[in-house]
Amino acid sequence: MNRVAASRLSVVEDSDLPPASIADAVASIARNELAPLAADIDSGALYPADLLRRLGGAGAWGSHRPDSRGAADLRCAIASIAALGEVCGATAFMAWCQNTLAWYAMNSSNPALAGFADDVASGKILGGTGLSNPMKSFFGIEKLKLKGGRTEGGYIVRGALPWVSNLGRDHFFGTIFEVEDRPGEIVMFLADCSDPSITLQPCKPFLAMDGTGTYGVQFRDAFVPDGLILAEAAAPYVKKIRAGFVLLQAGMAIGLIRDCIAIMNEVEGSLGHVNRYLPQQPADFQGLLSDLESHTMTLARDPYNADDGYWRAVVDLRLQAGDAAVAAAHAAMLHCGARGYLKSHRAQRRLREAYFVAIVTPATKQLRKMLHDV
Ligand SMILES: Cc1cc2nc3c(=O)[nH]c(=O)nc-3n(C[C@H](O)[C@H](O)[C@H](O)COP(=O)(O)OP(=O)(O)OC[C@H]3O[C@@H](n4cnc5c(N)ncnc54)[C@H](O)[C@@H]3O)c2cc1C
Repeated sequence: MNRVAASRLSVVEDSDLPPASIADAVASIARNELAPLAADIDSGALYPADLLRRLGGAGAWGSHRPDSRGAADLRCAIASIAALGEVCGATAFMAWCQNTLAWYAMNSSNPALAGFADDVASGKILGGTGLSNPMKSFFGIEKLKLKGGRTEGGYIVRGALPWVSNLGRDHFFGTIFEVEDRPGEIVMFLADCSDPSITLQPCKPFLAMDGTGTYGVQFRDAFVPDGLILAEAAAPYVKKIRAGFVLLQAGMAIGLIRDCIAIMNEVEGSLGHVNRYLPQQPADFQGLLSDLESHTMTLARDPYNADDGYWRAVVDLRLQAGDAAVAAAHAAMLHCGARGYLKSHRAQRRLREAYFVAIVTPATKQLRKMLHDV
């Protein structure tokens, strides 16, 4: 067996690797196994379930588990998402979905979900999050789309969410409904996609992200048992998990910007004599990236910080990450010229992926509203 194959095997067998080794192992899987799949994932020909499970085996979905003192550290999870994002933005997004689902389960006080958290962390269970609509509702942008009524042993939930990613028939995702007859009271729960009263509708093709297992989800009087309730009183729970939800997204931007810098450097030899007249150079983005990385990693050490100033810093960082991703991908296109305009070149893929970083909830306009309202 060659060295790369042997190291891949040990990665999958050992999920108790220290954080730095986990991020290195993820980077190795990204370079060796994800890179050849990126074009198919981008086109929607492939949803990489096997790869996501293998990444779980390498520890990619469990490093942010709170420790015995109740503290959590997101740095390794963000570094891992960034390593994937350097190669494929869609996979970085799926990694965020999976890590976020794990984050929900790890922070639930429902004892029935202890085993669930382990299964998501190991990649045995895959899934994501349907919090875009709730996140928008908390900031007065739209109304909650799911309603639930109490019944014996659980709730009956109805309504529809337009887009939820990293899904399949045996997947789960975390989302929120409003309790009927008790406006303003919200419950966060896990939706089990194998339930026949929860249907997944394929979406129209997107600009990018078609391989991310994204569906419209309908709840037709779906029974949600108490064992799948993440938080009966969701408001304080959301306050606890929200910084993690947002900070983990920085990994998508960091990975993408790194590759955009690499793209600009790749054409330096042949086009540097004219590219030097462009206003933004790889060195500028390297400086921006370093600041973004160090700021992200500082905030990522303390995701339960309840201070208003901390939350504002997280929102501000997320806004900068989206802006920087779009700016770096735009610059990479200008540096590449016609060769980046070819469908076969990754520069145009990176541009399409960058817009997703800026529009996925919390989108640029929501972040600006949040900062304005604060
Ligand atoms: C590829 C992809 C994957 C996504 N994955 C997830 C996910 O996993 N989980 C999740 O919670 N959210 C997901 N979203 C939603 C995403 O996070 C944002 O909420 C979405 O991009 C819109 O955000 P916005 O703030 O710009 O809202 P806007 O686009 O300004 O407004 C959104 C609202 O506009 C309406 N709307 C938008 N498009 C249409 C349409 N074509 N027809 C009718 N009404 C429409 C809907 O009512 C929707 O709630 C995904 C979106 C995309 C494009």
